[in-house]
Amino acid sequence: MCKDMPPLERAIQFHGHICPGLLMGVRVAEFAQKHLGVSQDIDEELLAVVETDSCGVDAIQSILGCTFGKGNLIYKDYGKNVYTIASREQQRAVRIAQKFSDKKTPESIRYRELNKLEHLTEEEEAEREDLLAVIFENTMSVAFEELFDWQDIDFIFPPKAQIHGTVQCVVCGEGVMDSKAAARPEGYVCPDCLQTKEGLN
Ligand SMILES: [Zn+2]
Ligand SMILES: [Zn+2]
Repeated sequence: MCKDMPPLERAIQFHGHICPGLLMGVRVAEFAQKHLGVSQDIDEELLAVVETDSCGVDAIQSILGCTFGKGNLIYKDYGKNVYTIASREQQRAVRIAQKFSDKKTPESIRYRELNKLEHLTEEEEAEREDLLAVIFENTMSVAFEELFDWQDIDFIFPPKAQIHGTVQCVVCGEGVMDSKAAARPEGYVCPDCLQTKEGLN
């Protein structure tokens, strides 16, 4: 991914579309960069703990470089728009939580309505574009503290992602990370075979 691309564009390219959730994630990522004085992660200097799996997380991955594959994106299935961003170099971490608000703007109510429809007419498509432009303007220009609470927190850094060895599963013959395999008298068994096949033997 092109590092010179502006953060917003990088996020849109990575995520595939522009949407309100992604924009909130862009605000979080940019705030974290400024607050912690960091840029994009190269080799696990940064770590993100995300408590949601929705659109905003893709902004965290693309802008901060904390990714699933590198092991510096930790997902907690809490269903909360809460993001903890930690800098290993600075030994600092900030927890950023989206403020709860049940006040919806007329634009976001209508946008949601349109998004639920299976097929949009040309007029509805155009209306949706216009609404998104308003939501974009609102989300990107409003003061950060109106959208989020944040606090510096103590954070215990886990060791950098481990590189594990691979062993062969005695049932399917495929390779499996040793830490995920179960040791059985006949040899290692992968989680898949453990679930689906072991009971049949
Ligand atoms: Zn999205
Ligand atoms: Zn197997």
